Amino acid sequence: MQISGEETAPKPLFGLDAAGLAEVMATVGEPAWRSRQLAEAMYRQRLTELDAITTFPKALRERLSTEGFSIARARIAQVFKSVDGTERYLVETPKGDTVETVWMPEGDGGEAGDGSEAGETGKGPERDWNRATICVSSQVGCAVNCQFCLTAKLGLQRNLTAGEIAGQVISVLDRHAVELGRDRINLVFMGMGEPFLNYESFMGAVKLLVEESGLSPQRMTVSTSGIVPGIERFAQELDAVRPKLAISLNAPNDEVRSEIMPINRKWPIEALIDAVRQVRLRPRERITFEYVLLGGVTDRPQDAHEVARLVRRTGLAAKVNLIAWNPGPGIAYQMPREGAVESFKNALAAEGITAYLRRPRGRDIYAACGQLKRTVEG
Ligand code: SAH
Ligand code: SF4
Repeated sequence: MQISGEETAPKPLFGLDAAGLAEVMATVGEPAWRSRQLAEAMYRQRLTELDAITTFPKALRERLSTEGFSIARARIAQVFKSVDGTERYLVETPKGDTVETVWMPEGDGGEAGDGSEAGETGKGPERDWNRATICVSSQVGCAVNCQFCLTAKLGLQRNLTAGEIAGQVISVLDRHAVELGRDRINLVFMGMGEPFLNYESFMGAVKLLVEESGLSPQRMTVSTSGIVPGIERFAQELDAVRPKLAISLNAPNDEVRSEIMPINRKWPIEALIDAVRQVRLRPRERITFEYVLLGGVTDRPQDAHEVARLVRRTGLAAKVNLIAWNPGPGIAYQMPREGAVESFKNALAAEGITAYLRRPRGRDIYAACGQLKRTVEG
């Protein structure tokens, strides 16, 4: 019963780990195994209403709901579809604000979409993929202020909770009816925000997704702009839950890096690499260096040569992911000129550095790297 004027504060269950759920169950006098049923319902069956948990007796569902408990999670509020099959979502948190999450399918015909459904949200998505990557946000906005990134323009609005980060993933898995045993799903923590400036929630989400939902940490990659204390902490995580690590290098030396990424003044390249060395890589695991090519600033042949030297000098098992800069309103950089990315890649290869080109995905819907800024216009 509710006393008027005294609203029961909502008690979110989504986002709690096994221990947290067991505590809640204890408060309503239920045994610990009920919390495992609850975890199963939220994180594997992807249910969002207490009443749908059929393993619970009706009385328990009603009791939890009367006491204000809820298993609601972040909800896909809007969908933008790219001609290349990419989907960008505005995901609304139970608090009512939105973040962005991106789905990038791959496989037979996965990129053949003609965009004719653009803007429609009611229709179920077609299943013309056999693997996909989900790009996840860790904060609303970002405080790091990289000069080439659209998310930086928002500033930091707030940190997401572990439940809000994991909720993006579960909602997207649910939308596409993903079966984890069959479909190959990669997660990249490369959406809005700097995961290592929201460490607890980021790792909390990873643990939920690994331990409760059954995703593999070896198919997850977290990208950081180079937050040294975060990397040091990350190096202490157990292999069973530690994602792979990507570092946004983006420049061949401290001078250029400090200019385009002011965070480099606090943690210059040398300190960054020292921290990365503390991560004990699994067999065959490699560190990824991400490198955004800014036309005329970081995409010249001498830059490639310098990057190759830098990466070699680290002595790390590493590869380089090259990303052509994606333009955004109000950002005064140039895209690399035609062929520059390819030449850069070849120059690295010639010096013995493995490099890959990251194709821009969903540029037409503002879903590509560095373009996430809650752009509501499709
Ligand atoms: N904050 C983290 C993760 C999110 S950014 C980080 O910076 O690493 C993910 C990647 O997008 C980073 O490598 C970043 O350098 C890159 N990026 C940012 N803005 C971009 C843009 N406009 N074009 C291409 N890549 C961009
Ligand atoms: Fe933040 Fe990453 Fe964008 Fe830099 S590139 S402003 S760290 S989201």
